[in-house]
Amino acid sequence: MPPRSNSQTPLLDVSLPLSPRTIAFPGDPVVEIEMAKGAGNDDDAVVHRLCMGSHAGTHLDAPAHVIRGGLTLAEVGLEPLIGECTVVDCTQCEQSIDAAFLRKQEIPPVRRVLLKTKNSALLSATDFDFNYVYLTPDGATFLVELGASLVGIDYLSIGQMGPLGVETHKILLANQVLILEGLDLSQVAPGGYELLCLPLKLDVPDGAPVRALLRPLKEAADAGRTGLAPGRESRT
Ligand SMILES: [Zn+2]
Repeated sequence: MPPRSNSQTPLLDVSLPLSPRTIAFPGDPVVEIEMAKGAGNDDDAVVHRLCMGSHAGTHLDAPAHVIRGGLTLAEVGLEPLIGECTVVDCTQCEQSIDAAFLRKQEIPPVRRVLLKTKNSALLSATDFDFNYVYLTPDGATFLVELGASLVGIDYLSIGQMGPLGVETHKILLANQVLILEGLDLSQVAPGGYELLCLPLKLDVPDGAPVRALLRPLKEAADAGRTGLAPGRESRT
């Protein structure tokens, strides 16, 4: 029997707010928002104009992001984006998450793996922090071999800055493992959840912002293994 989600437990919103204050990956467009309609006395409605990159805030990377001819946003199935997931505690990792570390964690055989690092504390900063914790290429290979179909992390890139980071992306995306980036896991305890996450239906190939939610699984919540991190209040 599949694990049941706990409808009495509040949904945890693990998405970043999108505003001009949202940090952007170096070289990517920053979020710009301005009122397009509504400021004038004759306007009968309020509408804003948005300008941002397709990888702004919490977002999905489709294979076409780094693989020529790879599956596009429209072509990836939505099934990997909804269902059971596990949040792995990587907060002890100082610089990177590698295969040796992941091998020592008892990651259950689920298809969706979210890596919680100390990066979550960096997401509300005003500037991009180049010292973020990343997944190494051999860590990516480990998760592919584990059978993951989606891997998420709590910063704007899952890989290191530069060619090694591109390699991490390629290993995952070439094996049809979707990547979720920019998750705010600061309020989330490690353990089992239901992930609910859908990208905007943008007509671009590479990726799109998402609204991502976690709901503790009933069995795990009953055992006190998931939910809000100790001492935290729900923000949803
Ligand atoms: Zn991305």
